[in-house]
Amino acid sequence: MKLQGKVALVTGAASGIGRAIAEQLAEEGASIVIADIQDKAGEEVAAANRDKGHKAEFIRFDVTDAASIEAGFAETAKRLGPVTILVNNAGIAKAAPFGKTDLAFWDLMIKIDLTGPFLCMKAAIPGMLAAGFGRIVNIASTAGQTGYPYCAAYCAAKHGLVGMSRSLAREYAAKPLTVNCVCPGYADTPIVESAIANIVAKTGRSREDALAELVAHNPQRRLIKPQEVADAVTWLCLPGSASVTGQNIGVAGGEMM
Ligand code: NAP
Repeated sequence: MKLQGKVALVTGAASGIGRAIAEQLAEEGASIVIADIQDKAGEEVAAANRDKGHKAEFIRFDVTDAASIEAGFAETAKRLGPVTILVNNAGIAKAAPFGKTDLAFWDLMIKIDLTGPFLCMKAAIPGMLAAGFGRIVNIASTAGQTGYPYCAAYCAAKHGLVGMSRSLAREYAAKPLTVNCVCPGYADTPIVESAIANIVAKTGRSREDALAELVAHNPQRRLIKPQEVADAVTWLCLPGSASVTGQNIGVAGGEMM
């Protein structure tokens, strides 16, 4: 229970990797905020964690809307206390050939996957500095470390997230605040299920072939489990990880070296 007394806000925690992260932080004693646009799923995740004896709240949170973020942080402070752990996990992963990547598609990806974390960090950092403890973990991707075809907007957003995190790690290095990225490879979540469905619809290949194409990126030839990402995030949030900042921790079976 090394995170007892800490308040962890995890965006996109109603599903997939974010849910696993929030639950793992709660297991370490943190009070958790399930911050998501999915009301029903978010309420269910919070209730399931309260049933296990954890302090958990669902707070509706749209990372593209500065007013919603401000209200979400204020509501968190009222219900649980100031946020000292922020995990920017909410994201979308849509693919398109560059020729079909129009401005609306580009803007949407950047808005959710890059501007969202920017706004959440702006909202979180003053409270962390005042509390004398802060941990920010940004869920980037191997797409923040290399390029993939048909993913220019996603790769740009995730590379941007990695760059912003490195910059903030340096800027706040003398403060009790760390900023890191965790970079998963293809993981077993609804985002990947829709990527598989997209490949099947566009190419006529079978689901098995589409899945095989995705796992071929991973030297371990499998999808990453959300829990494996959560374990890396939790370690970065522990008090003992104070000297780890500005890093990109790959959770991708050795895809990036
Ligand atoms: P997921 O299962 O789709 O969960 C993401 C959650 O974020 C969903 O509940 C989603 O709601 C929510 N969300 C979307 N837009 C939001 C917004 N504007 N404000 C607040 N919440 C919002 O996704 P996941 O696979 O767990 O992915 C989580 C993160 O890991 C993402 O940043 C993704 O890029 C990254 N990642 C995933 C993989 C992978 O293979 N799964 C690999 C590398 C990196 P909706 O369902 O309404 O969109």
